[in-house]
Amino acid sequence: MKFIVVVGGVISGVGKGIATASIGKIMQEHGFSTTAVKIDPYINYDAGTLRPTEHGEVWVTDDGGEIDQDLGNYERFLGYEIPKRNNITTGQVYKELIDRERRGEFLGQTVEVIPHVPNEIKRRIKEAGQGFDIVLVEVGGTVGDYQNMPYLFATKSLEMELGKENVIHILVTYLPVPYNIGEMKTKPTQQAIKMLNEAGIFPDFVLCRAGVKLDDVRKKKIEANSNVNADHIISAPDVDTIYQVPLNFEAENLGGKLIAALKLQPRKQPDWSKWENLVKQIRSPRQMLNIAIVGKYVDIGEFSLIDSYISVNEAVRHAAANAGVGAKITWVDSKTFEKNTENLNVLKNYEGIIVPGGFGASGVEGKIAAIKFVRENNIPYLGLCYGMQLAVVEFARNVCGLQGANTTENDPATKYPIIDILPTQRHVLAESIYGASMRLGAYAAALKPGTKVLELYRKTGRLEKDMKKIAMMKDRLRLGALDRGNAMLERHRHRYEVNPAFIDVIEKNGMVFSGFHTREDGTKLMEFIEMPQHKYFIATQAHPEFKSSLEDPAPLFLGFVEACRRK
Ligand code: GLN
Repeated sequence: MKFIVVVGGVISGVGKGIATASIGKIMQEHGFSTTAVKIDPYINYDAGTLRPTEHGEVWVTDDGGEIDQDLGNYERFLGYEIPKRNNITTGQVYKELIDRERRGEFLGQTVEVIPHVPNEIKRRIKEAGQGFDIVLVEVGGTVGDYQNMPYLFATKSLEMELGKENVIHILVTYLPVPYNIGEMKTKPTQQAIKMLNEAGIFPDFVLCRAGVKLDDVRKKKIEANSNVNADHIISAPDVDTIYQVPLNFEAENLGGKLIAALKLQPRKQPDWSKWENLVKQIRSPRQMLNIAIVGKYVDIGEFSLIDSYISVNEAVRHAAANAGVGAKITWVDSKTFEKNTENLNVLKNYEGIIVPGGFGASGVEGKIAAIKFVRENNIPYLGLCYGMQLAVVEFARNVCGLQGANTTENDPATKYPIIDILPTQRHVLAESIYGASMRLGAYAAALKPGTKVLELYRKTGRLEKDMKKIAMMKDRLRLGALDRGNAMLERHRHRYEVNPAFIDVIEKNGMVFSGFHTREDGTKLMEFIEMPQHKYFIATQAHPEFKSSLEDPAPLFLGFVEACRRK
């Protein structure tokens, strides 16, 4: 097992996560099995209770973790499912130590920051890396931050323990070009290196983020002032798509240099042709689709919008690239439809509409109005989680004649609680084990023969892949008494479900439930809906965006984009 530690310098937000994911992709392409660990120095145990508008989207893992969105980047690049233990927070480290101390495991000892904290950090890193050739470790924050000091101490200690050829450190910095000087400045990078040196760490590589490419003069300058070999100073200029980053690194032979630094033997000649082709589709598409994502965007400035829905955004991009088109995404605030229904006509300007996941009552009536509009006007629709629940509510109201139908999340007193908390979940909520009240992580669903959903999962190869996984997981309770015919797995993060009492009336009126999960107690949880006569009207209780990667797009997104192209 070899470790590549990625640390940030100068400023945050320069794409350390993308750099880490790209390095992982490169090592994978060179034939090494690779995983990635994200370290978040906050005290929160996980990201489940963080504000998405501040921290970005909450990423959900197969095993039900609510994690920092960087794990999503790793999966989108590596195309491999990363478990929740690959996200380490200070909260977890301290909780583990305090729990063990209370259990008497340190009897007689003083439990201290040094060595107990770094030891626990190292234990977690090694555990997450079990079975892989290469483990990437991204340390959140910026060198010099008080809160990531224990982590740097731990990775330095890992280097001492395992040797330099087994643990290397990469510093990602930023080189500003002050507009009045017009010259790229290396000083902040030199200072960041120095600060890392103070933690006992000498970076093996420096990735220099900047608006433009770094020239040799600047590489030499950093070498002269910081004693880092100019050959190991890698230029990382701004790109128009993140998927270009590994290609840029490879242009500087980063893969070969890492292999040499880690004293590895090259395993395989990388083949970037598929990746390059997809990047080309993203950068210069022959045709552009206009797609609207209708949500409630109060309190979210334009800036953080994409971060809050990054997986949906990327899943659209993956699907479009694989379908050979480009996608222009517009964020449409559902509240504008509540103010004036005339505004709904703007939806005619789009090839397709997505209603993504969401929580709470705000903006819900606007989303329902938008869903009615696209259903009636035969505009391709993809509903994700809340986007499925509200599509069922809309159908119950306007087609089944159940006036006032609703989700109890929006109207607890509704006469027709189409979407509701199931009785078996109620005690969990009543005892306010709030964090535990969600359906989280991968659940298997059986798909109905003859449906579009089944067809999409089959033709993309996902059905076959997931069936194999399910066969191996069959002892896991959450699978319930599953019909093992056409089953697949998607990730979940929600509390409410389609109320089984209304399934009959909805089906009689023409909406098809194309798949369901069966709980241990026999309750069927609806996972997919579709409208057979519609161009594309498909929604799911799951979050298929969490299982989309550039080279393997999510089936429902691919089907959606293809329908948009036909429109
Ligand atoms: N608010 C809904 C629920 O809790 C949907 C959640 C979501 O869209 N992620 O069930």
